[in-house]
Amino acid sequence: MSEAVEPEFWKRKSPELMTRAEWESVCDGCAKCCLAKLEEPVSGDIVYTNVACRLLDLNTCRCRDYANRKQRVPSCQILTPETVAAFDWLPASCAYRRIVVGDGLPWWHHLVSGDPDLVHRVGASVRGRAVPEAKSGPIEHHIVTWPNEGPNEAPNRDP
Ligand code: SF4
Ligand code: SF4
Repeated sequence: MSEAVEPEFWKRKSPELMTRAEWESVCDGCAKCCLAKLEEPVSGDIVYTNVACRLLDLNTCRCRDYANRKQRVPSCQILTPETVAAFDWLPASCAYRRIVVGDGLPWWHHLVSGDPDLVHRVGASVRGRAVPEAKSGPIEHHIVTWPNEGPNEAPNRDP
């Protein structure tokens, strides 16, 4: 039997109180967290690259082996209600991070819009912008800022 997902649960429940199905449904499918990251040697800041994890499907923006992701990619960070607050490297648009800091879900999120493809059409995902790990070459050449940018909070036209 599948777990219940209450209407607009994210407005009332803290991550610890969400059902497993609710927790999983919060993910917007952007796949930005599946990009390789680098730590700047002086500041210690985390910077993003456009190099995708080898298990990421660059078209669907989904992990090709989600159930076994930690075994397949040991560096994969498992996001849970207990760990999410400590994952300050998540992109600003990440739905989990937004909920934890009290920003709620954006207009383009599938739980708000009802459209799971909208995250891609508004440019909030890695679709069309990431490169496969196997073809990337030196990772230092792939530093990007877009994972922490846009889209706008409110639409000024239909996407
Ligand atoms: S960055 Fe956050 S919302 Fe986007 S795919 Fe990763 S966990 Fe999901
Ligand atoms: S193993 Fe899967 S979930 Fe983990 S970073 Fe790679 S593509 Fe993303």
